[in-house]
Amino acid sequence: MALIVQKFGGTSVKDTDRIKNVASRVGKYRLRGDQVVTVVSAMGGVTDNLIGLASEINPMPSEREMDMLLATGEQTTIALLAMALHSLDLPAVSLTGAQAGIVTDGVHSKAKIQNITPKQVHAMLDEGNVVIVAGFQGQTPDGRITTLGRGGSDLTAIALAAALKADLCQIYTDVDGVYTADPRIVSDARKLNEISYDEMLELAATGAKVMQSRSVEFAKKFDVKFEVRSSLNNNPGTIVTEETDNMEAVVVRGVALDKNQAKVTLVGVPDQPGMAARVFSALAKSAVNIDMIVQNISHGSATPATDLSFTADKPDLAKAQKVIAELKDEVQFAEVIADEDIAKVSVVGVGMRSHSGVAAKVFETLGAGGVNIEMISTSEIKISVVVEGGKGEEATRALHGAFFGEET
Ligand code: ADP
Ligand code: ASP
Ligand code: MG
Repeated sequence: MALIVQKFGGTSVKDTDRIKNVASRVGKYRLRGDQVVTVVSAMGGVTDNLIGLASEINPMPSEREMDMLLATGEQTTIALLAMALHSLDLPAVSLTGAQAGIVTDGVHSKAKIQNITPKQVHAMLDEGNVVIVAGFQGQTPDGRITTLGRGGSDLTAIALAAALKADLCQIYTDVDGVYTADPRIVSDARKLNEISYDEMLELAATGAKVMQSRSVEFAKKFDVKFEVRSSLNNNPGTIVTEETDNMEAVVVRGVALDKNQAKVTLVGVPDQPGMAARVFSALAKSAVNIDMIVQNISHGSATPATDLSFTADKPDLAKAQKVIAELKDEVQFAEVIADEDIAKVSVVGVGMRSHSGVAAKVFETLGAGGVNIEMISTSEIKISVVVEGGKGEEATRALHGAFFGEET
């Protein structure tokens, strides 16, 4: 008998037929004698609809109420899936994140899990139930409902797998596994049999939404090996695991596209020590996550000044602009420009540690395709470039072709 944590994302539970399909999959494991904990997302599109409803009522809704609202999406699915399992004569109970013992900090909309005490999960498993847990949500020690960031059901599943010391963790989605690029953008992207935590983390952090990046970080930290696979067929998926020696032989593992970033430029920032510190401390205090940063000497002003650009997630743009506006007197910049029409394209691979020439190939490929590069950032195993929004998909296909062979 194994203890299995299975997570089904929004597309896998998008309507009642899909929920019944999930019930029969989960049921098979339960009938062969395994203990099954199933984490589910909101039905596809529900979270976005709830966000839309909130914005019709109030453009800057209270963060507490927003989390209260969004948590209802997952709560609908857990109850429906329990009912679907009951229809198959299988014992099942649903639990909210709080009931499953998931305790988080108080940072609404991107709360971090502090600890998990899955007493009820264990008790209900011991009674023979399939235990269905609402993904994406937790509760602060003082009883406020929180959410774990978009795509956060992945994190719920990985964290529960760690807390329960599960034998197996499976992330079911609407594609067969992790590909060399988003198969919806690059038609000849290839499915990977396995990928290291670090590569999956970089791909996720740079836009490959097949896994939420924080969930991969958590998996790496607690050594939770997991499989990403399809809820619609029985094909083997992709194993995400620790790096092995032969992984470095492949220079580039994948290409990712992120269209969810915005660029903010502070023009004419006085060229004095401490300016960047003021800007980024204020942004950090407001929990705006910054990704890329570029600083250039500005030639337009009479006194020495720099232009300071950074990128942040699009949903954080309004907050970032508000924070920056409040710094106007203190930092004395000339103006602020916000640009939402950008895309970030990244190539990722642990082999970059030991192979050179990847950056050159990226720049040559984009140059040959007439794609202008606005910003560049690198890590040991990643090169990211910001390009004009409309060129993102074209750049992704060109880079995939350059590293994995042309589309046939
Ligand atoms: P779920 O609802 O199951 O959480 P998501 O929509 O969050 O599913 O993630 C699955 C989607 O991720 C796929 O439909 C695919 O378009 C996208 N995706 C982006 N990059 C990749 C990649 N490298 N490999 C596989 N899928 C990817
Ligand atoms: N329902 C949430 C979202 O749409 C969480 C998830 O699907 O993992 O982001
Ligand atoms: Mg997802």
